[in-house]
Amino acid sequence: MDGTQILTLGLGLQAPWKLKDQHLDTTSSPHRLELYVEADRGSLYACPECGKACPAHDFADKSWRHLNFFQHHCYLHARVPRTRCPEHGVKRVEVPWARPDSGFTLLFEQAAMSLVREMPVLAVSRQLEVTDKRLWRIVHHYVGRMLGDLDLSQVANVGVDETASRRGQRYVTVFLDMQRQQEPVIFAVQGRGKETIKAFSAFLEAHGGAPGNVVEVVCDMSPAFLNGTAEHLPDARVTVDWFHIVQTFTKALDEVRKRERREKAHPKALRWAVLKSMNNHNLTEKQMVALRELVADQGATANAWIIKEKLRWIRRAPTARRARWRITNYLNVMREAVAGHTLLKPMAKALNTLERHADQVVRRWYSGLTNARLEGMNGLFQAARSRARGYRNESNFIAMIYLIGSPVGRMLDEAKST
Ligand SMILES: [Zn+2]
Repeated sequence: MDGTQILTLGLGLQAPWKLKDQHLDTTSSPHRLELYVEADRGSLYACPECGKACPAHDFADKSWRHLNFFQHHCYLHARVPRTRCPEHGVKRVEVPWARPDSGFTLLFEQAAMSLVREMPVLAVSRQLEVTDKRLWRIVHHYVGRMLGDLDLSQVANVGVDETASRRGQRYVTVFLDMQRQQEPVIFAVQGRGKETIKAFSAFLEAHGGAPGNVVEVVCDMSPAFLNGTAEHLPDARVTVDWFHIVQTFTKALDEVRKRERREKAHPKALRWAVLKSMNNHNLTEKQMVALRELVADQGATANAWIIKEKLRWIRRAPTARRARWRITNYLNVMREAVAGHTLLKPMAKALNTLERHADQVVRRWYSGLTNARLEGMNGLFQAARSRARGYRNESNFIAMIYLIGSPVGRMLDEAKST
C-alpha cells in the first residue's frame, strides 16, 4: 500500500472522489500537507435536490482545513462541480467531507467542537492554530443546528433567571425546564424582562411546545418578568423563587453595610459635632442627625444580618399554612426592629418586597419544585463566561450557555456517533 492509498483510506473517500495528489510544503510555517481530491473526467454527481446522477456543468476550486497530519497543518483541495439536473437546474454539489460554505472539513469541526466543550475557545484557537473568530462561527453553526432539533413538547414548568454578560451592562435571560434533571437550559436570549418572555413563548411554539402547557413559572420578583408571564404564558402560576428572596435581603444587607461604613468614614465631622455639642448645644440639623446616629448605633449591619438570617425560620415551615403564618409574624417583628432606623431603610424595603410577594413565595410549598436548579445557574454562568473569555459578546456567551447547560452538548455527541 503506498502513501496515497493510506491517505485515501484515512480520508474515507468514496467514489467518484479520489485522492489524486499529495504534497508536503516545507517552505510554509507551519508546514502544510496539501491533498488534492478529484473525480474522474465525465463522472456523474448526485443532484443536491433529488439525488439523481447528473453530469457536471462547471467546476470551482475549493479548499478546506483538515485535521493535522502529525504536527503539520493539512488542507484538502478539490474541484467541486455544479450539476445540471433536468429537473432542478444548475446546483453546487455537496461534498461528503464538509458542509456547504465551511472552510473546514467535518472531522476538523468535530475535533474543534469536542475541545470547545472542554476548554475556553481562546485556548482551543491556540491549540488548533485557527482564529477564534472562525472557531466561534463553527460553534454557532452547530449549536444553532442542534437547537433546531430541540423538542420542547413536554415543557410545563419553567424557571427564569437573568445574568449580566459583561459587568453590569448587558443582560442574558435564561429559561430552564424545571423538570429536567440534567442540562436544564432550554432557551437563552439577550436582554431582560418582558420581551424575553415573549421570545421564549415563540421559541417554545417553534419547537413543538405550547405556551398554554406552561402551568408554572419560577422567577424573581421583577415586575417585567411578572407582567411578561401574565401576558405571554397566561396559564402559568408564578412561584417566586426562595433563592431570589434571599438575594433581595442579601443585597439590602450589603446596602446597610455600605451606608454604615460611609457614616463612620467621617469621624472628623462627628468629632467636631460632639466637641461642639459639649461646648454649646448650637448644632445644625445635619450634625444633630449625625450625632443621633452615632449614639443610636448598635451595629446596623449586625441587625440587618439577623433580619436576613431569620428568613430561615420561614423556609423551614413544614406546610404552606405555617409558612404564611410565619411570614406574617416575621414581618411584624422585623418591622418593629427596623422602625425609625435610617440605616436600616434598605431592610424595610426588602420586608415590603416580601410582603408584596407573599402569595407567590408561599406557592413554593405547593409546587414541590426545588429551586436548587436556579441557584446552580450561577456556576453555569461563571463557566460560560470563562469559556467565552477574550471574544465575548452576548451571542458567544449564549452559545456557551447552550453548550454547557442545555441538551445541545449531548445532541452533538449523539450526532457524532451516528
Ligand atoms: Zn435534481
